[in-house]
Amino acid sequence: MAEPPKTRLPNARQFPRFAGISTFCRFPLIETLETPPDWALYGIPFDGGVTYRPGARFGPRAIREQSAYVKPYHLEHDLNLAERLSMCDAGDAPVRPYSTRETQQAACDFALGLGDASTRLLAVGGDHSIALANLRATQQRHGGGRPLAVLHFDSHLDTVDVAWGEKYTHASPFIRAIEENLIDPRQMLSVGIKGPLNTATDLDYGRAQGIELVTWADWKHRSGVERIERFLERLRQSGDPVYLTFDIDSVDPAYAPGTGTPSIGGFTSAEALDLLRTCRGVNLVGADVVEVLPAMDPAGITALLAAHIIFEILCIAA
Ligand code: MN
Ligand code: MN
Repeated sequence: MAEPPKTRLPNARQFPRFAGISTFCRFPLIETLETPPDWALYGIPFDGGVTYRPGARFGPRAIREQSAYVKPYHLEHDLNLAERLSMCDAGDAPVRPYSTRETQQAACDFALGLGDASTRLLAVGGDHSIALANLRATQQRHGGGRPLAVLHFDSHLDTVDVAWGEKYTHASPFIRAIEENLIDPRQMLSVGIKGPLNTATDLDYGRAQGIELVTWADWKHRSGVERIERFLERLRQSGDPVYLTFDIDSVDPAYAPGTGTPSIGGFTSAEALDLLRTCRGVNLVGADVVEVLPAMDPAGITALLAAHIIFEILCIAA
C-alpha cells in the first residue's frame, strides 16, 4: 500500500478547482489537521508600509483564489509536493492597518502560534514590510540563536533607513532585520536589482555590510549567474538555515503588472521560476511572497504567478 499523502488535497477529478472556499493551493485549513504541519502558509493583508501605490493588502485573497490552479506534481523536479510535505493554510495574521510596527509584532506573535516548534512559516503579503514579522518568527524558531542566511529576489534593495520620518516601511525590512540580528548580511544574496535609484549612495549600505548583490543586468549578462551558483553551493554545503523572500516586482511588470512599485525590465515569469528551481538543496526554513497588488492587474496574472512561486518555494523545501 502506498503511504497516504502528507497533505490531503480535494480530488480535482471530483471537486472542481474552481469550486469551494479558497485556501492557498487548496491546502487544508490548519484547524482541520491532526498533527502540526511541516509548513504553515498564512496571509498578512497589510500595505501600510508602502512608499508608492497602495493595495497589496488584497494580495493574500487574490493569491488564494489564483492558487486553486496549482497542482501538486512538479514536472521538472519529478516530485509530488503533497506526498512530501504536510502543508496548510493558517488564515490571515491580525493586522493594524494604521501601524506597521504593531502589525509586524502582531503577525510575528500569530506566526509563532502556528503548528509546533518545527513548523516552517510562509507568509503571503502584503507589502514587503511584512517580511520583518515572518523573519522574526522564523529566526526565533529555526535560527538556533544565529542570524539566518537570506535569498532575496527584488528590484529594490529594501535597505532604506528612514522614509518620510519612518523607520519601518516596505523599503526597510532588511536594514531592520540586520540591526535585529535576524539575518546575516554576509550570508545574504539580493538578486534582480534594477531600475533607477534615488542616488548612487543607495548601494553603499549593502556593500558595506557585505551583501552579495546580483543586479538584473549582472544576471542577464551571465556574470551574475556564476556568483549565484557559488552562493547557493556554499549554502548547500553548510546546511545553514535559509530564508527566502520574493518580491513580485523582481519580475518584469510586463509579466507581473499588479504591484506597487513597478520597475521596468526584469525576469520573465519563466526565468523567475527557473531561478527558484536552481535553489533546490538549500535548507529552507521560512519564506515570504510579497507586493502583489491585484487592483493593478485585472487579468490576475500577477497573483497567478505568485501562486506558482509559492509552489516553487515549497518544492525547494521538499
Ligand atoms: Mn521591490
Ligand atoms: Mn521589496
